[in-house]
Amino acid sequence: MMEAAHIARAVTDVFLERRCPVCGRALRSREERLCLFCAGDLPLTYYWTQSRNAMADRFNARFTGDDISYYIYAAALFFYRSEAGYAEIPKALKYHADYRLGRHYARMLGRRLAESEAFRDVDLVVPVPLHPLRRWRRGYNQAEVLAREVAAALGARLGKGLLRRRRYTRTQTRLHGEAKARNVDAAFVLTRRARRKGLAAHHVLLLDDVFTTGATLGACFRALLPLCPSARLSVATLAVVKE
Ligand SMILES: [Zn+2]
Repeated sequence: MMEAAHIARAVTDVFLERRCPVCGRALRSREERLCLFCAGDLPLTYYWTQSRNAMADRFNARFTGDDISYYIYAAALFFYRSEAGYAEIPKALKYHADYRLGRHYARMLGRRLAESEAFRDVDLVVPVPLHPLRRWRRGYNQAEVLAREVAAALGARLGKGLLRRRRYTRTQTRLHGEAKARNVDAAFVLTRRARRKGLAAHHVLLLDDVFTTGATLGACFRALLPLCPSARLSVATLAVVKE
């Protein structure tokens, strides 16, 4: 007997041709998310196997001169290559409410992190918050959708409601360089609840969908620091834009 999900997919295939979000090829019913070629070619970073890597170096460079006593770990699952179409994975989640694809790759990221020397002791995963108005308009926070899966794979708690985005920033994709830096600078603050209750964790992972310049994650990182003076803070994303 065919499994219900499989029947549903076969029916969907007939009425609504499913396409590989990366290359646009029509998917066969056995291909769940990406076509076999694109799934096999996913440009993995392997950053979770290298505690020092290009992404972490870029992030640490934002904090030179700051009083942080450790090298900040950073990892992404794959390279965001818009020309190769893999950018469609985070885009599907961010703009089209396609949770399935994002969750699948978030679980994959979580499993890699759980096997990683640098990340396996993470006990709290904090998603980068959206401004409440944007969250309300979109109906969800894509970073939180991802963080929930990553936390589950790591056996960590999900840290919601610790940070608040206080300005309704313009969509980041339309801004570049300096404007973008100014836009996110000091955009995050600790919530009253976080300040009152503090943070019981020894390794906190900040999570976002895409790492471009690291400005957004950097601003979140700075906001969280006073809450965890004795904890380690790391960052992870689904995708990273190659410099
Ligand atoms: Zn494909």
